[in-house]
Amino acid sequence: MYPKMYIYKNRIKENAIALKNICSKKNIKISGVTKVLCGNPEVAEALKEAGIDFIGDSRISNIKKMKNFGINTEFMLLRIPMISEIEELIKYVDITLISELETLKKISEQSIKYNKIQKVIYMVDVGDLREGVWYESAINEIEEALTIKNIKVIGIGTNLGCFGGVIPTKENMNLLVSIKNKIEEKNNIKFELISGGNTAALPLIENNELPNEINNFRLGESIICGTDVTNNKKVLGARQDTVILEAEIIELKEKPSIPVGKIGFDAFGRVPHFEDKGIRTKAILAIGEQDISPSGLYPLDEDIEVLHSSSDHTIVDLTNSKNNYKIGDTIKFKMSYGCMLKASTSQYVEKIVIK
Ligand SMILES: *Cc1c(COP(=O)(O)O)cnc(C)c1O
Repeated sequence: MYPKMYIYKNRIKENAIALKNICSKKNIKISGVTKVLCGNPEVAEALKEAGIDFIGDSRISNIKKMKNFGINTEFMLLRIPMISEIEELIKYVDITLISELETLKKISEQSIKYNKIQKVIYMVDVGDLREGVWYESAINEIEEALTIKNIKVIGIGTNLGCFGGVIPTKENMNLLVSIKNKIEEKNNIKFELISGGNTAALPLIENNELPNEINNFRLGESIICGTDVTNNKKVLGARQDTVILEAEIIELKEKPSIPVGKIGFDAFGRVPHFEDKGIRTKAILAIGEQDISPSGLYPLDEDIEVLHSSSDHTIVDLTNSKNNYKIGDTIKFKMSYGCMLKASTSQYVEKIVIK
């Protein structure tokens, strides 16, 4: 039964090796990020086989799943933790990204209780407006974190590109490095990891603009999808066919390209736009917004155009295709990061790992 999503383990491994080669030249350790495939343990295994240093995920449940599967590596929790998940965090997470002293003190209490030292990376917001202490107050706040019992601040980090769309540059990386230098000098310590960012930071290596002090990248999209959405490009040396979605045709008819009747809003409150191309051969696929984003579907048959989706239906235009599709046939797609995230989260899409 469709829809199905095929995860090509070896292709992901190839991408991971390609990125490891790029990053190791600059002494950058990689945290391979599994969240877009919901912490699929076999994907984690591929990353491990590729020699990736850490595995990062934003959800403890994913980390738990990978650990229970037997993946033996250091796990990084990428989303700053909820107070309500600290007990689980102590059990399953090796390195936690953090941005609140209040949360850190709660982690400290639990660490003391279980007689553990919890490693953390303190996040600094250098402009993107997502997590992290604002750079102007970073030194004081991180110095206070250094004094908290049973907590080891192994480094500092930043995240760019994801919320504000701010592009990582030499300038904002140097800002992070200057904060690192000041804290290290004043407190006579040496941080282990300076975590400069995600996929969006990769062009800094290519352009030889990354400060040497940055020694960790957390890479998801580049390894899993082979793309970099923030910089709108493909990642050099990485493939984009690591995950393929297959959906089935449930209706196939000749229909006009413009709806008949007065147009209001669609199922999601959007006003759909139509171009009059006359009568077209159109198919309905049994997959919808609950499982994918239509704008992130890229048909392998490049003559197919994806038109629009509602919750459970996706309409594609087959007029220009050289193939003779019938009802019950399937259509395969590559996916954008956002679309893949929905497909892997959807319980209605069967996941098949190809070895
Ligand atoms: C998701 C995430 C990443 C990985 O980002 P990609 O763009 O997929 O490489 C890195 N860091 C944090 C904090 C994240 O949440």
